This record gives sequence, structure tokens and C-alpha cells, in this order.
Amino acid sequence: MFPKLKFTEAQIRDYYARVTPDMVRASLSAEHGSFFDLLNLVSPEAARPEYRAPLREASMRARRRYYGKTVSIFAPLYISNTCVNSCRYCDFNIHHHAERKILTPEEIDLECAAIRKNGIDSLLIVAGEDPKHMTVDYLCEIGRRLKDRFSCLSLEVAPQDEDAYRKLFDAGFESLICFQETYEKGLYQYLHPAGPKSVYEYRLWTQLRAGKAGFRTLGVAFLLGLAPWRIEAASLAAHAFYLMKECWQSRIQFAFPRITPVSGGFTPEHPVDENDLELMMLAFRIVFPECGMTVSTREDPAFRDAIVQTAADNMSAGSRVTPGGYAVLADRDVAQFTLNDSREPAEIYQAIRRNHQEVVLKNWDNRI
Ligand code: SF4
Repeated sequence: MFPKLKFTEAQIRDYYARVTPDMVRASLSAEHGSFFDLLNLVSPEAARPEYRAPLREASMRARRRYYGKTVSIFAPLYISNTCVNSCRYCDFNIHHHAERKILTPEEIDLECAAIRKNGIDSLLIVAGEDPKHMTVDYLCEIGRRLKDRFSCLSLEVAPQDEDAYRKLFDAGFESLICFQETYEKGLYQYLHPAGPKSVYEYRLWTQLRAGKAGFRTLGVAFLLGLAPWRIEAASLAAHAFYLMKECWQSRIQFAFPRITPVSGGFTPEHPVDENDLELMMLAFRIVFPECGMTVSTREDPAFRDAIVQTAADNMSAGSRVTPGGYAVLADRDVAQFTLNDSREPAEIYQAIRRNHQEVVLKNWDNRI
């Protein structure tokens, strides 16, 4: 469990079992959602079919209040797939014999040009954990190189200390994503047997360090499929409430990545189906209306097109999860996970507009 949460897993399970129809209805119309409203709205009681329409309506109202009809678009750019960690569920882990590649600055330029052709102005830099090559200085160099080409630069790389985050922020990065994978400490240690990522606490407080260093957006998530999702959802909500208090100047952003097949053959013990995924996203939108929410490219087009109308406010388009996948090595895929939405950006924009929503490629101009 998230360590600041004062309840045990058994108490959370017991609470879920006692949620009544009245509690679900009260949480659906709560003015300021609490931790217990979140539990009520993801409970087995709330999963009953008769609540789905009111949940969608309440979530859509919350989404409209803060995000109108806009859908923000970003692209991930994998700059490296070298990694010293041993995560059992990932094809980039050190024991997997995947082809490895680190993009050169010139290759990064080629990839960025291919991404910019689709009008995308928000870039997420992704790299495996590789302290020898992906140093803070190198990442800062990339930030400085790209900050005039993209209005928003985000990072999904190895956790850093607070000083490093200050340097990265000064270099142009303003947003950070770090999946905790699982909040269950024992399971975390089993899944991450070696490498720097094996230290649960260091990863857990990543967003706190980045928030204190000035990062404007702090992304939180667990990997759906590793542990029972309702228990993880309780921890995720507690983590988000904690960060909102400690880093009140930053915006929290949720993601709900489900494990998709990898060539290493990892099978999730607690798979999450689409129905439960939707329930969780609707509940988090209702309780955390102002927070960002991303829908993953791991989901299929129909689900993505529907959930950006009711809950999520941003999505990637035309994603490649291979270093060089946009331009340099477009024909050779060494992906971290399987993508289920392979549409080109133009098709995604069309689908958004067909649903009477507005595609947002740029949120602001950086004048500093
Ligand atoms: S999940 Fe991340 S840290 Fe773990 S092996 Fe894959 S790339 Fe490395």
C-alpha cells in the first residue's frame, strides 16, 4: 500500500465489501470528492451495469468543467532502449536479448522532424535506465536542444534526485511521468529483483522530488495487471492526494497503462478488463476533476475515442515505442510493449473532430 495510507489491505477490502447503493449515489454527486468517494466509485457495487450511465454522465460533466471539449495530443520519443534493470514484465530488461539502440543527437533531430510534421508540439522523452549513457547532463543537453522546437517537454526516464530535477527543469523539461508499477512492496521487490529500480522508496518519492524542484506536471500510475486493481487504485488515490498537498503548485496527471503482451512472455496475474478500466478512469475523473488523465496507446481505437469524451483529456497519436521508430529505423521494431492503436495522427484527429471535440496540439507558448 502507499505508505502514507493509514489503512491495511484487509481494511480496504472490507470497506469495498460494505459499499452500498446509497454510498455510490452520494459519491456520484459529491461536491469535493474524497478518498472514500473514490473507493465507493470503484467498488464492486459501483461496477453494476445500472451505474455505468450515471458514472459516465458525472465524469463527462467533471471533464467538461476543466477541459471543455479539448483533447491534447502528444508524442513519445524513445531515445534509448538500453536498461540496467531487471523488471520481469519488460522486454527492455537487461536479460532480454532485444536489439539495443541509443539515438544520436542527429537521429533525435530526424525523429523530431517526423513528429513535428504531424503538428505535434508536446513531446515526451522516454529512455530506459542507463546511468552510463542517459546522464543528467546528456538529458539536459537534449532539453536545451529541443525546447525551442516543442512548447512542452516531458520526461519518462530513470528517477533522479531533487538537484538533478532542478537542472532538468532549467534545461526545458516541465513535466514528469513515473509509473510506480505496483504499490505492494513485496511484489515490487519480486518484480524488480536487481538494478537501481529495486529500491521501492526511491521510486515512490520521485514525483515529490520533481515537484519540489519546480516540475509543473507530475504523472502517477501503476501498471494494471500486476496486483488486484482495486487495492492499487486506493494507493494511487492516496498518492495523488498526498502530492496535491505537498506539491500544490504542480498538476497531477493520471495514466492507466494495462500490461500488453511482450515477447518475453510475461503473463499478468491480475488482468484488468476494459469494463473495469473504464470504471476506474470514470471514478478518478469524478474525484479528481482538475487532474490530467492520459489514455494509453495500449488501448484499442474504439476505447480511446470513447474515453476521451468521458474521462481522459489527452492522448498520444502515431506513437512509436522503438528508438528510431518514426524515421531512423521505421521498419525494425524493438518495442517495449504492444500498441493497439496504430492509426496515423490524421486519423486520430479526424475521429476526435467527428465526436465534436477539439484537437489541441499546443497549450501555450513558452516566452521565458
Ligand atoms: S520497465 Fe523501464 S526500468 Fe524496467 S526494464 Fe523496462 S525500460 Fe528498464
